Amino acid sequence: MLDVMMTESLQQSIAGQVLLPADPGFEAMTSGFNLAVAQCPDVIVAAACADDVVRAVGFAVARGLPIAVQATGHGAVVPADGGMLINTSAMSATRIDPERRTATVAAGVQWQQVIDAAGPHGLAPLNGSSTTVGVVGYTLGGGMGPMARTYGFAADHVRRVQLVTADGVLREVTADSDPDLFWALRGGKCQLGVVTELEFGLMPVPTYYGGGLFMDGKHAAAVLHAWRDWVVELPEQANSSVALLRLPDKPGVPEPLRSRLTVHVRYLYVGDAEAGESAFAPMRAVAPVLIDTVAVTPYQAVASVHCDPADPLPAWDTSSLLSDLPAAAVDALLTVAGPGVDTPVIVAELRHLAGAVSCKPLVDNAVGGRDARFNVYAVGPLPPQLAEATPASCRAVTHALEPWSAGGTLINFHGSDQQGVRNAWDDGTRARLDAIHLRHDPHGTFRFSYPVARSRR
Ligand SMILES: Cc1cc2nc3c(=O)[nH]c(=O)nc-3n(C[C@H](O)[C@H](O)[C@H](O)COP(=O)(O)OP(=O)(O)OC[C@H]3O[C@@H](n4cnc5c(N)ncnc54)[C@H](O)[C@@H]3O)c2cc1C
Repeated sequence: MLDVMMTESLQQSIAGQVLLPADPGFEAMTSGFNLAVAQCPDVIVAAACADDVVRAVGFAVARGLPIAVQATGHGAVVPADGGMLINTSAMSATRIDPERRTATVAAGVQWQQVIDAAGPHGLAPLNGSSTTVGVVGYTLGGGMGPMARTYGFAADHVRRVQLVTADGVLREVTADSDPDLFWALRGGKCQLGVVTELEFGLMPVPTYYGGGLFMDGKHAAAVLHAWRDWVVELPEQANSSVALLRLPDKPGVPEPLRSRLTVHVRYLYVGDAEAGESAFAPMRAVAPVLIDTVAVTPYQAVASVHCDPADPLPAWDTSSLLSDLPAAAVDALLTVAGPGVDTPVIVAELRHLAGAVSCKPLVDNAVGGRDARFNVYAVGPLPPQLAEATPASCRAVTHALEPWSAGGTLINFHGSDQQGVRNAWDDGTRARLDAIHLRHDPHGTFRFSYPVARSRR
């Protein structure tokens, strides 16, 4: 057990803060977006800069402490019990280079910060559906967002990664400096160190035509079948997903969506707004609309396409990639999450993939799941009384679509369900990731990561 005497030298050498379990603020720093994940590290280092991370890693390695990293806690699935938790949320520097169309961000930056900084230059990043997610954690896992069909994964556009590896060395990693490590860092999510800075490309998207269309759940079958027929004909500029929602009667939830089943069609068209509007017209005609926010919108408001929750909540989620979505698959989804079903699943979502998602980037990376055509995702609340019902009901959604499974998941969408997490990569990619991890972290310092690395211990 660490005590104040032991950590005093570390505190004196860093600009950030060292916290032990009895310190005020310790508990707040362990909790993240998913309140169902409770973690209890021996010590927290709230790093203020890359040098702090170097010193923290050196301190932990010298004492045999395993290390976990947290920016926002959106992706905390393996609790950091024991060891050191490096919290990067104070590392918030963001620089935009409008000439080169790049952003350079520190480890704790969230997507909305990049969106707001890039917007005045008419540029946009490849963020995810929620803009309070951390840039680094998202991108290390590939990063499949609302413009993915147009531009691919966020990881496909990374130019440089700065990280501290388990030997305590601060490294600048590019395609030229270390091709293997650069490949693994973009999509491998197997914790090869603590990333302190990331540089990536931005897209010329000042506005988009898009938003959300909400309809009564009684039209779910008509909407889902129409969506399935419609999306497969869309060009790469058009991105869409659809979700069956069961939202609670709570402040913040628009009145027409409370305590009932609704269907939410999300749409983002990059390019000519008139072309985007005419491509979307068939979906507007399927059923009476409760709320329609689909319009020309500044990119700064992109979080309104999905309307993900912004406040922390206890949740359980799972997902699966699909190779196809025939009419029978839509019927199977309706059987477990459609009208008349009593389920705690608050969101059962289908995302349309393909387009640029299927294309390898110029510099190859470890992103898995490129061949899949759709992603199915289910999430529900996890209060103690739903501890069994929510996981069972979420799994029922992915199991119902099993006949059309592409045989894996996107690692960022894997969520709470640790079953089959290694299926996020094909055998060859996984073996290469394991080898690179073994080379850079032979003693398993970063053992709280996804089981790419853990499975061999
Ligand atoms: C509401 C919501 C919406 C989402 N939408 C999308 C989406 O549209 N597309 C998508 O692809 N994903 C999406 N995700 C998944 C999300 O991208 C992952 O959970 C991601 O890991 C979150 O990163 P974070 O830093 O915010 O979370 P954290 O919990 O802070 O970090 C998660 C993990 O990322 C790694 N990590 C974080 N920082 C560092 C670092 N500095 N160095 C090394 N490793 C680090 C660690 O393994 C850490 O355990 C969503 C998640 C939520 C909860």
